[in-house]
Amino acid sequence: MEKPKPATVIVNAGRDPAANHGVVNPPVYHASTIVFPTVEALHAAQKHRDPLKSRYGRYGTPTTFALEQAVCALEGGHHSICVGSGVSAIVVALMAYLKTGDHVLVVDSVYGPTRRFCDTVLARFGVATTYYDPLIGGGIGRLIQPNTRVIFLESPGSLTFEMQDVPAIAAVARKAGITTIMDNTWATPLFFKPLAHGVDVSLHSATKYIGGHSDLMMGILTANEAAYPALRRAADDLGPASGPDDCYLALRGLRTLSVRLQRHQETGLLLARWLQKRPEVARVLHPALPDDPGHALWKRDFTGASGLFSIELKPVPDAAVAAMLDGLELYGMGASWGGFESLALPSEPHKIRTATPWLNRGPLIRIHAGLEDPSDLIADLEAGFGRLRVAAGA
Ligand SMILES: *Cc1c(COP(=O)(O)O)cnc(C)c1O
Repeated sequence: MEKPKPATVIVNAGRDPAANHGVVNPPVYHASTIVFPTVEALHAAQKHRDPLKSRYGRYGTPTTFALEQAVCALEGGHHSICVGSGVSAIVVALMAYLKTGDHVLVVDSVYGPTRRFCDTVLARFGVATTYYDPLIGGGIGRLIQPNTRVIFLESPGSLTFEMQDVPAIAAVARKAGITTIMDNTWATPLFFKPLAHGVDVSLHSATKYIGGHSDLMMGILTANEAAYPALRRAADDLGPASGPDDCYLALRGLRTLSVRLQRHQETGLLLARWLQKRPEVARVLHPALPDDPGHALWKRDFTGASGLFSIELKPVPDAAVAAMLDGLELYGMGASWGGFESLALPSEPHKIRTATPWLNRGPLIRIHAGLEDPSDLIADLEAGFGRLRVAAGA
């Protein structure tokens, strides 16, 4: 057979019914202790550190390995590593390649807790961070210092959805011997493959689309062959293991990723186009819209869009935004998107950014398009705009 397409990989990777009494899904192995029959077998396991053999629960069980194999096949990497949350994945990746005295370049539109980790923990351990313009592309070379060891990317940007020129940045980094790490949570490994675009480590909050049902916390990292050993070491040394039940749920979520994302994409674009026509909306930040500033990069590098985007409202009092959001019936107000349900969350990027000021022209609302009927989602927003207009006295 030809190389299977991603939707086929999603269904089959990391599954071996023949090794498991014919059962379709791998079982949940709960384990801390793994026992060995002989001293020789014990020493062999310690020495060879086969990533697909259990040595101790913290390093993973066969359930963990099944998920790692599936995600690795999708990402096209050397190996994947499951950890307890997306933030754990970010921490492991940064700690793997940085030491005291080093410098890291981080995109200014990065996920908030990534910034906080750099500004607090990394700073305390003597690692300096410079935030860079998400639109910098190959110009990143200007910011490289002799001690720059890592460039951290996230595309599109958290809250503001700027697209980065990933291949251009990765090419500059590779030439300078700098490790690149990308937070690929938005696109999932289905719609963007960082490693194929020159990035060394791709990471996900699997809490989001891979889990897909708002009921687990997990992170997954995938590295190319050169970057893997240091990443493995860091994960082993820091110890943020993921639980086998969550691995099982994430694997179950992964099997339906292609159909879920197709629907998230369709509904997200439908809402985005409807929102573009609303008089209350100043602009819609969604790279799959043809008039979005990041559209050309998205079209060149990505094979799809997920269901998360933002809208900027025309200036209105905070109370009017609250009147709109408080009364929504189908959109939950909360963090952590990527589940089956819709969400709407006010956000304030102008209070976060440092390298490139975000002009606070009007309130920003981040929307996650869930799997509900799109016409119900639109009706709920329409009623929300009615409340907004009344509260704004318009
Ligand atoms: C949610 C999120 C994370 C963190 O993941 P957790 O599983 O919540 O720790 C990291 N990156 C992005 C882009 C996210 O949205």
